[in-house]
Amino acid sequence: MKPIVVLGSGLAGYSVIRELRKRDRDIPVALVTRDSGDYYSKPMLSNALAQGKDAAGLVLTRAAEMAKQLGIKLLVETEVHAIDRASKSLDTTSGAIAYDRLVIALGADPIRIPVQGDAADTVLSVNDIADYARFRDLLGSKASIAIMGGGLIGCEFANDLAAAGHAVSVIDPGPWPIASLMPEQAGRQLLAPLAALGVDWRFGTSVSRVDRAASGYQLTLADGAQLQAGLVLSAVGLRPRITLAQQAGLAVNRGIVVDAHLRSSDAAIFALGDCAEIDGKVQPFVLPIMHAARALAKTLAGEETPVVFPAMPVVVKTPAHPVAVLSVARDAVGSWQLRANSDGVKMEFLDAEQRISGFVLTGPYAAERNEMSKQVGQRALPV
Ligand SMILES: Cc1cc2nc3c(=O)[nH]c(=O)nc-3n(C[C@H](O)[C@H](O)[C@H](O)COP(=O)(O)OP(=O)(O)OC[C@H]3O[C@@H](n4cnc5c(N)ncnc54)[C@H](O)[C@@H]3O)c2cc1C
Repeated sequence: MKPIVVLGSGLAGYSVIRELRKRDRDIPVALVTRDSGDYYSKPMLSNALAQGKDAAGLVLTRAAEMAKQLGIKLLVETEVHAIDRASKSLDTTSGAIAYDRLVIALGADPIRIPVQGDAADTVLSVNDIADYARFRDLLGSKASIAIMGGGLIGCEFANDLAAAGHAVSVIDPGPWPIASLMPEQAGRQLLAPLAALGVDWRFGTSVSRVDRAASGYQLTLADGAQLQAGLVLSAVGLRPRITLAQQAGLAVNRGIVVDAHLRSSDAAIFALGDCAEIDGKVQPFVLPIMHAARALAKTLAGEETPVVFPAMPVVVKTPAHPVAVLSVARDAVGSWQLRANSDGVKMEFLDAEQRISGFVLTGPYAAERNEMSKQVGQRALPV
C-alpha cells in the first residue's frame, strides 16, 4: 500500500501526522524533509535569548524519536525536486518516492530585499533552527545589531536582543511598528517601551548598503543616514514556497491554492501551513496551522472535514509591551475604534454592520484576548 507522504517537518507537517495518528495508527505515512527533522517550536526563535536557550536547547524532540512516536518512515536531509502527478511519485535526493496522497507543508522563504555594498551577502535571516544556530554563533557579544523590518518578527527580535543588552536599530520604510497588522495608535504604543530598552527606531527609510567596517558593518540608509552594526538581521517578510506545486501544474496564487478541505487543484494533493493559501489568505501563524491540521487529519482518515477558523489573534512576543492582534484585511470596510487607553490601548474594528471583526490589545489589555475572541466568533469557509 502506498503511503500518505507529507513534505516538510515543520509545525504543519508534524501536526497533521500527530492528528492523523490519533485516528489511525496503521495507515502508512512517510515524511520527507530537507532539514534534520528535529521537532522544535519556531516561535521561540525570536524570544530564545529571554528563555536562556541556544539552538540545541530549542529542540523539543529528536527526529528519530518523532519517527518512533508517530510510527512513520522519516526521510531527513532529503530535498524534493519534483512532483509527478501522473505517476503519483516524487523525485527526491533519496530517489523516487511513491505516494497515495500527498500533503505539502513546505513553509515559506524569507524575502530578501536587494541591498548594495561589499557586505550585502552577510545579512542574516532567521526562519528555522539552522539559521538560528548560525545567528547565535555570529551574535556572540556583538554590541550593536541592525534589524531590517519593524514588523512582528523584527519587533520580537528587537525586544529579545535589547533585553539581553544589545543596542538594536530597527529600520523600516513603514510609518510605525507592525504597520501591516495594527493601526497607528496601537503600533505607536511599542515605541517608548522598546526605546527604553535601547531600541533605536528608524521609520520611513530602508537599508541601501551594507559595507564592511573596522568594527563590523556600516549601513547606509535611503535617507542618507549611516549606522554601525556588528550584525545585520533581515526580517522583512516571508514568501510561501510554491515552486514545486507550480511546476507540477497545481493552482497557485500567493500560496498553494486549497479549498476548505485543504485540497489543492489535484484531489490527491493537500497543502497547509505557511505555503498554503486558504480562502484567498496565507496565514503564517501557529493557530491556523493547528486548526487546518486537525481538519485535514480527519479528511485523510476518511471523514471529509472542512476547516473552520475561530477568531485567531496573534500574540506578539514583546514583553516590554505585550500585544495581541486580530488583524483585518487592508481593504476591510469599517473603522478602528478606541475603547480604552491607559498604559496601552484597546481598539476594536467595527465592520459595515457594526460587528467587531478585529481588535488590537496592547499593554495590560493584551490579557483580554480570549474574551475579545469570543465576541468575534467562528468563521466557516465556503466549501
Ligand atoms: C522567528 C519567528 C517567530 C514566530 N513567532 C510566531 C508566534 O509567536 N506566533 C505564531 O502564531 N506564529 C509565529 N511564527 C510563525 C510560525 O512559526 C509559522 O507559521 C510556522 O512555524 C510554519 O510552519 P510550517 O510547517 O508551515 O513551515 P516550516 O516550519 O518552515 O516547515 C517547512 C518544512 O519544509 C521543509 N522543506 C522546504 N523545502 C523543501 C524541499 N524542497 N524538500 C524537502 N523539504 C523541504 C523544511 O526543511 C521544513 O521542514 C513565527 C515565525 C518565525 C520565523
